[in-house]
This record gives sequence, C-alpha cells and structure tokens, in this order.
Amino acid sequence: MQNTELKSILKEYEEKRFRRELALEQKKQEIYAKCPRLQEIEDTLKKLGITTVQSIANSDKTTHLQKIQELNQKIQQLKTEKQQLLASLQLSEKDLLPVFDCPICEDTGYTKESNGTVMCSCLTQKLLNTQYNKSNITNIQKENFENFNLLYYSDKVDTEKYSASISPRDNIQIIKGICEKFIQNFDDPSEKNLLFVGNTGLGKTFLSNCIAGEILAKRKTVLYQTAPVMFDSILDDKFGKTHNNTMEHILNANLLIIDDLGTEYRNDLKFADLYEIINTRLLHQEQKITKTIISTNLNITALFKTYDERIVSRLVEHYNICRFFGEDIRFQKK
Ligand SMILES: [Zn+2]
Repeated sequence: MQNTELKSILKEYEEKRFRRELALEQKKQEIYAKCPRLQEIEDTLKKLGITTVQSIANSDKTTHLQKIQELNQKIQQLKTEKQQLLASLQLSEKDLLPVFDCPICEDTGYTKESNGTVMCSCLTQKLLNTQYNKSNITNIQKENFENFNLLYYSDKVDTEKYSASISPRDNIQIIKGICEKFIQNFDDPSEKNLLFVGNTGLGKTFLSNCIAGEILAKRKTVLYQTAPVMFDSILDDKFGKTHNNTMEHILNANLLIIDDLGTEYRNDLKFADLYEIINTRLLHQEQKITKTIISTNLNITALFKTYDERIVSRLVEHYNICRFFGEDIRFQKK
C-alpha cells in the first residue's frame, strides 16, 4: 500500500475530527447560552469526577466508602437535573456528544484489540477505494436493490432462445433472492460464493455493486477489480514494477469482486494466480470472512473449457452459479 495514500487519508481523518470538535463546541456554547445552568452542571460534574478519583486514592478505608457514596449521590442528582434541563430544550444527552462517521474507531482509523492496535475497517476500505475501487466506487455507492428494475427482464418464456423453462424475469428474481441470502448470511462460512455467468448487459455488474454497497454498510471491506486489471496488477508487483502488496489485499478483503473474468489475456501465470486466489480465500473462510463474487461473459461450457480442472471443481463446489439471460438492458434504457 502506498504510504503517501495512507498519510493523506489520515490527514483527512484528523481534519474531520478537528472540524467535528469545533462544531460540537459551538453547538454546546449555543445550548449553554440558552441555559447557563447546564454549563454549571457540566463543570461541576467534571470537578466531581476528579474529586472521586482523588478520594479513592487518598482516604483511609473507613471514611472511604461513605465519601464515595456521597459523591455518587451528588453526581446522580446533577445528572438527573441535566437530563431534565435538556428535555425542556427538546434535546438529549446525545446532543452534547460528538457524532462519528465511524463509531468503531471514532474516526481515528485505528482500534485497540487484544493483539495491539489494528487498522479499522473504515480505513482499510478507504485505502482499497483509492487503490482498487476507483473506477467503480461511484457505481457501488449509487447502484442498489431499490433501483434494480425487474421490468427490464421479459416475462415471456423462450425455451429455444434461452435454453430455460422459465422467463428471464422469473430467473432474475431467483438470482436476486440468492444475492439477498448471500448478504444476509455473509458471515456464515457455509454460505456459498457467487458466480455470475451470462452475456454483457444483463445486470451482473449492477447486482455485484448492489451487494458491495450492502456489505460496505455492514462495515466489511470490499475490493472490486476487473480480471484484466487485477491480473496485471499482481504481475506488476511480482516483477517489481510496483510494490502494492496487491495479492495480500486480494486475499484478505472480506468481499472480493472479480468482474469480467475471461476478458483477460490468458497464460499459465494468471491461471496459477486465479487458483491461488480462489483456493486461499476458500481456506481462509473458517478464520475470517473472505467471500468472492466472480462474474464472466463466458457461458458455462466455455468457462469450464478455459480454466483448468482444479479451478472449475472449486467453482462448482463452493459457488452458487447464477446464469443470467434475457435482452441486453443497456439498449432498453435508451
Ligand atoms: Zn473506523
């Protein structure tokens, strides 16, 4: 990961925290102007907090308990008065607290875990967005299930054309259900990955983006990349052209989306990389969430002919294969 990118994102975090504290301070001052007693209470509560700590440290055991009880009582009384005053202004305790974009790390980018300080998923995601999701991030943010229009898919069964006994609309409805189940059971290791198969313009990328949006909302990390770009980035790292730890990020993202598999220029090196990605992410599954969505314009027969048996067998066993069919949506939208 580029150090400069990390630095500039951390600077953004710092500025964000600063602006927030400033805004909160202003808001508090406005509230205090309306109700000076509130400020008095806040100040007294702070002082009492310090006194409590001091008396725990200093007093001998006999006076100790009684003193602390008295202090606690006083604090409780003030807190109740504060709540009543806030309520009379139609405010609550929350209005005096900062609101963070990420409540997990309070917008610092890092959290304290038992094994030390670790990068929060919000920061990891920001780095993934700058480095990998750039081309697709606005789509991830705006494409969602609400604007997924089933009417683009015909409700007429055409067995000959689509080799299916159900209509494109019934089919896409089934696929949508599979996607929703995938989101719901995202943390469950036994929930299968997704393989989207079918021609361009049938909503494969759109559905991947819908899922990505929902998974991001669950504060998981998402890495999106088209197959040609992904394989080239891995090779660039391997041959020392870049030092981005691409493979590491690909193996560790909670959700990896490989779009357009089959459009890459293929060679044995890339087959080996694809196998490593698919297999390692499956093996990880028991310790951490590493789910994958692969979409391809190849049909199933072509896909199975193109990639070697080890890859195909893992896809068959661990992926829900969704076949998209119908008329190209892009022409209908115009
Ligand atoms: Zn965070």
